[in-house]
Amino acid sequence: MKFEFTDYHIHTNWSSDISIDGPSFNDYIKIAEAEEINICFLEHYELYNIERDKSDPFYNGKIDDYLEEFDDLKGTYKFILSGLELEYYRDRETELLEFMDDYEKELDFIGGTLHEWIYHYPITSRTKLLQLLEKVQMKQVIDDYFDISRMMIESKIFKNICHLDTIYRYINEHDIKPEENCDISDERVLNLGRLCIKNKISIEYNLSGFRFPISRPFPSKEIAKKLKSERAKFFVGSDSHSVENFQESISKVKNAYEFLGIID
Ligand SMILES: [Zn+2]
Ligand SMILES: [Zn+2]
Repeated sequence: MKFEFTDYHIHTNWSSDISIDGPSFNDYIKIAEAEEINICFLEHYELYNIERDKSDPFYNGKIDDYLEEFDDLKGTYKFILSGLELEYYRDRETELLEFMDDYEKELDFIGGTLHEWIYHYPITSRTKLLQLLEKVQMKQVIDDYFDISRMMIESKIFKNICHLDTIYRYINEHDIKPEENCDISDERVLNLGRLCIKNKISIEYNLSGFRFPISRPFPSKEIAKKLKSERAKFFVGSDSHSVENFQESISKVKNAYEFLGIID
């Protein structure tokens, strides 16, 4: 890569949660070049949604268009990487493995991720999470998140895992307060991290939390430090959904590399 640091988690209008007139590859490339930082586009790739929703950017095999559009740019810019944030489904491991077989070599980077396990209720949408909490006890939602994350790691489908404890994006003391019977101990997140270490999986240090009331990375600085001392491998991502997100995160990304003691 051309530059010293890399932001591994950038979303463009190839991601289903960004509108068609949202940021493009080129919008980010301009800034990355000026700020001297490598960027990896990590678009949402959700099998369930891609099959059902015609408005999903990857609907009907469009991943090949994504790769083609990217290839043209890659010839010109030596600081961009193609990637996907690939949603894990515990009942679709075979298809996910097949997908990895077909596309792992075509892409520079794939991160495994967990946003929703009850379809249409992603825990990374505040509105949807509140709806989910009307049906399912908070304790159960948190327990399910950790159980299914463990399955995702143990499936060994992925070499990289995104935002290990993103269940706390909204469930935390500064936002939707955790109920008394919930286990929100650091130990739980540490154990997921240790499972990554054991399976030689890199862990994301995801900076998106600074855009929410929780105002900390996923996982927290303390947990990252502890895991680092146990030889965890990290990559750093801003999880930008706009060029403003990206611009605001650049110094944080660079600082994170220094804090974690990694040179890319
Ligand atoms: Zn995500
Ligand atoms: Zn993301």
